[in-house]
Amino acid sequence: MISLDEARGTVLAGCARLPATRVPIDDALGLVTSEAIVSPEPVPPFANTAMDGFAVRAEDTSGAPVPLTVVGTIAAGAAPDIPVGPGEAVRIMTGAPIPPGADAVVMVERTQMAEDGGTVMVLAAASKGDHVRAAGEDVAAGDEVFPPGTDLEAGHLGVLASIGLVEVPVYRRPCVGVLSTGDELVDDDRPLRPGQIRDANRHTLLALVRSAGCTPVDLGVVPDDLGVITRTLEQALSECDALITSGGVSVGDFDYVKVALDQLSGGGMRWMQVAIKPAKPLAFGAVGGVPVFGLPGNPVSSMVSFELFARPGLRTLLGTSRVITPTVRAIAREHLHRHSDGKTHFVRVRADWGDDGRLHVRSSGGQASNLLRSMALANALAVLPDGDGVGAGGDVEVLLLP
Ligand code: AMP
Ligand code: MG
Repeated sequence: MISLDEARGTVLAGCARLPATRVPIDDALGLVTSEAIVSPEPVPPFANTAMDGFAVRAEDTSGAPVPLTVVGTIAAGAAPDIPVGPGEAVRIMTGAPIPPGADAVVMVERTQMAEDGGTVMVLAAASKGDHVRAAGEDVAAGDEVFPPGTDLEAGHLGVLASIGLVEVPVYRRPCVGVLSTGDELVDDDRPLRPGQIRDANRHTLLALVRSAGCTPVDLGVVPDDLGVITRTLEQALSECDALITSGGVSVGDFDYVKVALDQLSGGGMRWMQVAIKPAKPLAFGAVGGVPVFGLPGNPVSSMVSFELFARPGLRTLLGTSRVITPTVRAIAREHLHRHSDGKTHFVRVRADWGDDGRLHVRSSGGQASNLLRSMALANALAVLPDGDGVGAGGDVEVLLLP
């Protein structure tokens, strides 16, 4: 058996970020910038008001309450073509440009309109700049808004739009093929014949691939047949940036995934036994430059293996620096038991914030590697180092599931 770190090191060494490209900003969520993003224009593009109210010359309001003559109205989207002279005010709406001559805005709550609508009483003195958002206050023209290597989230996309970018330079989004293997697997609602089960893993793994910011490619179910497995893998290797298989990587008699991958990689696959539970067996190798993750078949093992190995590998393909999900400290609300076996155990838990402001965890159910429901009910994995577990009230590191 090898350690988790060693196995993960092998995986990460076989993964590299994909080439840079340009994509429309609405396709860029979860991608990583390949260049610094420099703004060609200021944001906001002009000085504007942060409040509904009246644009004034601050000096005119020093003796407040004072009456000012209302000379017009400027709505958001209108040009600031009504100058404000001494003793004058312009009614103005949030986001509208500050008219020439004005240097402050009095919010509408601090004013009183005269009956005739031609005069406004300013009730409180304003200072220069009050409620005025300066041009370029957020971003100046020529500013670097994001450095290379930025993980693009929702807010980033809005900033890119606000500086007039239509496309963004990023590392290409990986296409990741997902394949289930096993003669026992059925992938529709037909009645099960003796010995058959339904394919759970492919659906979980396709969803996990998507959650990792990659484009999932459904490669279907293949039987335990060396020819079919080989042909399916060959085709997939020519179309995908990475492959994820589940099943057929342990030491069973019909584990042809192993034979096929060994042949296709020319012996470049590593067949690992990792000192973790669940998800001990792991196959990994770059086949013709395409990383292939051979995950175990047991449904929980395949998910845990995805989190510990495939997700960091896929993040490396995406080009992010946030490769490994950090663990956080929590309190065990009950005894999380295990026995000593030389492995690190990943225990399915439900994590909730306690009144003490700390994260509290308790088991989400049975821990055998075929019990997928307790994995679905878990939102974290408690990391139990070799030993006899963590007593109720004890500290425990947990991996929050994305
Ligand atoms: P294997 O790794 O192929 O030896 O499979 C280990 C266990 O996982 C067996 O009980 C399989 O039936 C089960 N298994 C394999 N693939 C899947 C799948 N796609 N969905 C659900 N269970 C699976
Ligand atoms: Mg199998």
